[in-house]
Amino acid sequence: MNTEEFRKYGKQMIDYICEYGQTIDERDVAPTVDPGFLRKLLPEEAPQKGEDFKRMLDDVETKIMPNMVHWNHPRFFAYFPAGNSYPSILGDMLSSAIGSIGFSWASSPAATELETIVLDWYAKALDLPCFFRSDAKGSKGGGVLQGSASECALVCMMAARARAIKELKGNHHDVHDSVYLPQLVAYSSKEAHSSIEKAAKMAIVKLRALDTDSRGVFRGDTLRQAIQEDLAQGLTPCFVVATVGTTSACVFDNLVEIGQVCREVRSIWFHVDGAYAGNSFILPEMRRFKEGLEYADSFNTNPNKLLLTNFDCSAMWVKDVKLLTTALAVDPLYLQHEHSSAIDYRHYGIPLSRRFRALKLWFVFRSYGIVGLQKYIRNHIALAKRFETLVNSDDRFEVRNDVNLGLVCFRLKQQDRINRDLLARINQSGKFHMTPAMVRGKYIIRFCVTYEHATEEHIDYAWEEIKNYAEETLAAECPEEVQEQALPATKKPPKKLTRSMSTRFSFTRSVSREIFERQNSRSQLTDGCTPIVIVDTDDILESLQRASRMNGERSSNDTYDTDSTEEASN
Ligand SMILES: *Cc1c(COP(=O)(O)O)cnc(C)c1O
Repeated sequence: MNTEEFRKYGKQMIDYICEYGQTIDERDVAPTVDPGFLRKLLPEEAPQKGEDFKRMLDDVETKIMPNMVHWNHPRFFAYFPAGNSYPSILGDMLSSAIGSIGFSWASSPAATELETIVLDWYAKALDLPCFFRSDAKGSKGGGVLQGSASECALVCMMAARARAIKELKGNHHDVHDSVYLPQLVAYSSKEAHSSIEKAAKMAIVKLRALDTDSRGVFRGDTLRQAIQEDLAQGLTPCFVVATVGTTSACVFDNLVEIGQVCREVRSIWFHVDGAYAGNSFILPEMRRFKEGLEYADSFNTNPNKLLLTNFDCSAMWVKDVKLLTTALAVDPLYLQHEHSSAIDYRHYGIPLSRRFRALKLWFVFRSYGIVGLQKYIRNHIALAKRFETLVNSDDRFEVRNDVNLGLVCFRLKQQDRINRDLLARINQSGKFHMTPAMVRGKYIIRFCVTYEHATEEHIDYAWEEIKNYAEETLAAECPEEVQEQALPATKKPPKKLTRSMSTRFSFTRSVSREIFERQNSRSQLTDGCTPIVIVDTDDILESLQRASRMNGERSSNDTYDTDSTEEASN
């Protein structure tokens, strides 16, 4: 493609993006396709000869777009927001165009320095403790952009592990680091994100997932007791994670209590995971949840969740950069340069090569200003509060979390099974998208405000529709009763959802009761995207039998049959 063609198609692409944004609410928020659908629509091999741009864009519109989940849709209330905005897209475009690989200062001086400066801006905007800033007097700390909160947790755990091993090792330089691994223990609450469990798995550090209090808050006494037990056994506590805004219910852990316990044990690194809610500290009225952050050794928050910046962009600050870089640095000659006082971000994380991510964040800060970003988050809070009020005004429903930010966890005051069916009906419509979680022992539906330009109308409409689906769900539970209650003769009572439909559209991973209980006893870390539902073992058995029957048929006549036909006939 030459420059003139790029100019032409580039303009078409911008037009397409604008059209997408303006008409997004005419699309379903999520598709209803089955795995493997796309292979049937595309050729088996890449074309021999280059194709027309127009054909590519046509295929995008007909084959890709209808089968996407549209995360920036006004009726997307699932997960947490996928931050995005026009300034961010523009910054990202430019970053792609420059295409630099900024592993060291020398490899991309302006990219490196802009990252440092923007992270200092960001730290000031969130009113983080000074020691996290690289421009504060006497500070040994600083920030870095990682690709995800999962990476932030992993590299901080690696740094904590390296420091703890170094102390245990003392002068025994000939002993391999791995000898000390069985000694180390990390701690989080059961409500911490699953990426913490993953980090511990990768770092081979034992993780204790501790109980929370009845509101889901990780408390100091629980941590102290666990640490004392381990110290008594001669183990070395090395890493503690507290969460600012848990994924299932946006609970804020007690940083003061946890931080004070961490201070009592020298070997502990205290990490605070604020992937979503950490951004809310841009609002003075949210800073009460930040109290205790001064005890932290590291903190992360994702502008790609609540700060209108598109994925990937996860900010992380550490109090002592040296502890991070000694854990991760390797220095082959070809990467060394004469400016050794400059920052080389390759020592701050896993990859060598790095995108110029600071550019899009810089564009976002400058386009909105702090005031614009505050306004955006305040709007989400106000709308979540409005939804909470609506739910509370209907006594068939209840809210099960403290609504402090954009997330409301609600349910019908009914069995979990009925709530799962309600969610299945909501998602199956294609009109809305929501996800479930377990909160204080009950299955709930997460309603998270995500749309940048969300209004009261969006919330009120969602609530009206949710009530309709709830009525359908309840009516399907006891059709006779409903019929007696003078339903118009023409209106048939709604059908019960089949089990397969219910599990599919409530976006759950179905496992047998036996597996569920086994997993449950080991760990209950959440990630908001793999909630677990119990399906009766009989159902599993039945579907296994059906699958093996189908397999037999397939090998004889080589045709596919899926249970979509069964669903369609229901
Ligand atoms: C979303 C989330 C994560 C994981 O974020 P990634 O950037 O996708 O790795 C971690 N912690 C919390 C609390 C989250 O909400």
